[in-house]
Amino acid sequence: FILIEYKDVVKEYPNNTLASDHISLKINDGEFVYVVGPSGAGKSTFIKMMYHEEVPTSGHIQVNDHSLEKMKNSEVPRLRRELGIVFQDFKLLPRLTVFENVAYALQVIEKTPAEVKERVDRVLTLVGLEDKKDNFPDELSGGEQQRVAIARAIANKPSILIADEPTGNLDPETARGIMDILEKINQEKTTVVMATHNSFIVNEYKHRVIEIADGKIIRDQEEGDYIDES
Ligand code: ADP
Ligand code: ADP
Repeated sequence: FILIEYKDVVKEYPNNTLASDHISLKINDGEFVYVVGPSGAGKSTFIKMMYHEEVPTSGHIQVNDHSLEKMKNSEVPRLRRELGIVFQDFKLLPRLTVFENVAYALQVIEKTPAEVKERVDRVLTLVGLEDKKDNFPDELSGGEQQRVAIARAIANKPSILIADEPTGNLDPETARGIMDILEKINQEKTTVVMATHNSFIVNEYKHRVIEIADGKIIRDQEEGDYIDES
């Protein structure tokens, strides 16, 4: 079924930059979708509108059963709990341990301490970091920090994992480690939407490719390459 739908979405920033120029697309439950394109193409804007960080100037966005263009601010936390979001720069809380960073994401929902511990342990095992749960972020490598960020993002069992350049700061081997985790999460039925500049990742791990240029979708291809060779 359709999980995400953009209909004729326009985003014009106050300085008149047209970052989304009549974008329409549908993403089904369980898909893995790359969003590619040059810097300034509008990838981040496209992604930010999905979690209501930016609001479209016109058009319609549906995510799960939320209509984002008419969403009240009070409804945004409910939307965000159905999404997991991962950034290029990890955004971990430096004074909290690995365990606490992940548990913190769960606190908003009512759970007993035992339930929290069980869930945190499970997602840390999934990303291979059960041995680092008492470490602080600055004691971890970049790849490990990104794995903590992914564990935090999936702690609430989101239906959609949104990743904005998740491998942007990582060397190729570490990036592959991150991709293996994202693949595993996708195989467990979570929809993944990932903006990336990382051509070898897109070419190695084949999925649907949406290419954006000047705020428009110029390609939408199943199992596409980073650059369209066809
Ligand atoms: P990408 O993620 O592909 O690099 P962005 O979505 O960040 O592209 O940016 C698309 C265009 O919108 C660029 O021209 C950028 O400078 C502009 N832009 C992005 N965010 C803002 C903003 N908050 N205010 C004004 N212009 C912005
Ligand atoms: P990203 O590529 O992840 O969007 P950026 O460095 O482009 O990161 O943007 C950082 C912040 O600055 C974002 O909040 C973005 O919306 C804003 N921004 C980006 N481009 C512009 C711009 N041309 N004018 C004003 N704000 C911008």
